[in-house]
Amino acid sequence: MFEPTYTAGLERLAAFVPHAGRDYASKRNYDNLAHVSALSPYIRHRIITEEDVLKATLARHSPQTAEKFIQEVYWRTYWKGWLEMRPSVWAMYRSDLQAALNRVQTESGLRQEWEAACKGDTGIDCFDHWAKQLADTGYLHNHARMWFASIWIFTLRLPWTLGADFFMRHLLDGDAASNTLSWRWVGGLQTIGKTYLARPDNITKYTEGRFHPTGLATFAAPLDGAPHPARGPLPITDTIDPNLRTGLLITEDDLSPGWLLDQVKPSATAIVQTTPARSPLAVSDPVSGFVTSALSDCAARFEEQLGPMTECAPDALNTWMQSHDLEQVVTSYLPAGPTRDALQGAPLAQIIRPYDMSAWPHATHGFFRFKDKIPKLLGQVQNHAV
Ligand SMILES: Cc1cc2nc3c(=O)[nH]c(=O)nc-3n(C[C@H](O)[C@H](O)[C@H](O)COP(=O)(O)OP(=O)(O)OC[C@H]3O[C@@H](n4cnc5c(N)ncnc54)[C@H](O)[C@@H]3O)c2cc1C
Repeated sequence: MFEPTYTAGLERLAAFVPHAGRDYASKRNYDNLAHVSALSPYIRHRIITEEDVLKATLARHSPQTAEKFIQEVYWRTYWKGWLEMRPSVWAMYRSDLQAALNRVQTESGLRQEWEAACKGDTGIDCFDHWAKQLADTGYLHNHARMWFASIWIFTLRLPWTLGADFFMRHLLDGDAASNTLSWRWVGGLQTIGKTYLARPDNITKYTEGRFHPTGLATFAAPLDGAPHPARGPLPITDTIDPNLRTGLLITEDDLSPGWLLDQVKPSATAIVQTTPARSPLAVSDPVSGFVTSALSDCAARFEEQLGPMTECAPDALNTWMQSHDLEQVVTSYLPAGPTRDALQGAPLAQIIRPYDMSAWPHATHGFFRFKDKIPKLLGQVQNHAV
């Protein structure tokens, strides 16, 4: 379903853009791939970027006609900025997940229920269908993700962190910010006191009659959790010394490194595979396969400019630097999440994309405040040459 190449991403974008206006606004809630872009595996890895998507959309539609779609793209940007200012929320998720996995080892009842949910063997037919669809395809429609998370938390009463981890292991677009904060939002931890309850009539309507679930929770009390941590400062972009012998590191967080080449003339380039860091458990074969092929596609795409690239394990970075006599290694900024965790302590100069630099500072409060800035941000997107 998802070919991990830049060309396939561009083709999907071109095919979707004509529908990004009123079609998308009126039909996007139906659990049907025909009504959404299915671009998230590409955007997540920046095989194609948010800017590519917004520019292509604005070349065809007015900002008003494509308002809904543009807002959805900015939801991703908003979540990234929000987490960047509160990275301890990701660290907290990881430690709560480990605690839940420890419980799974010692509580056989919990283990059986968790396994049944992951296998799609709960007896709730829509939920079981989505669990299998996710494992088979690496993708779920947004509405299905909301229903699935809600049933996981409020009907099956399983720890939300185990559900978020199930998504991280199977979603091709598995992303620390969008995934963790969306699960928190469903459970009432993100927008304090506001939960998302999956309702049978809503599922029936938006699956066009495919499912009529019974026995779902009828009430969704917010989960207990720590208050939001205080907002910290945003990262600043590192300085590159043009006189040093420089290497370029490409990670799965940004597979369009062309924008960095105005600033860096690398003597050597490495690509690093950090997908296993998405979960303490094994990530699915479709996810590993997608990322491995996407990294190779990026290496092939930039070979003419950058020469052959070395595949490098996260812990072999220093050896690679020494073998090429590198004095600094530049990479596109690593946002809070598995890649940053896997490369913790590596001597990297991290450069933040102008798109993120302009948008993230506005992710201070809720999305509705951020949304007011979209017209100004869109103006900047149209003026950027990237
Ligand atoms: C519980 C839960 C977990 C999620 N986990 C992830 C995740 O790990 N990675 C991820 O990319 N998205 C996640 N989402 C958000 C959203 O479901 C997906 O981005 C969207 O379904 C991707 O499909 P699409 O490309 O067809 O989206 P479209 O509707 O075509 O939207 C276009 C793009 O906008 C962005 N986008 C759309 N909706 C959202 C949203 N609600 N939040 C953030 N970005 C959005 C995506 O980059 C998407 O590709 C999650 C949502 C929920 C409810």
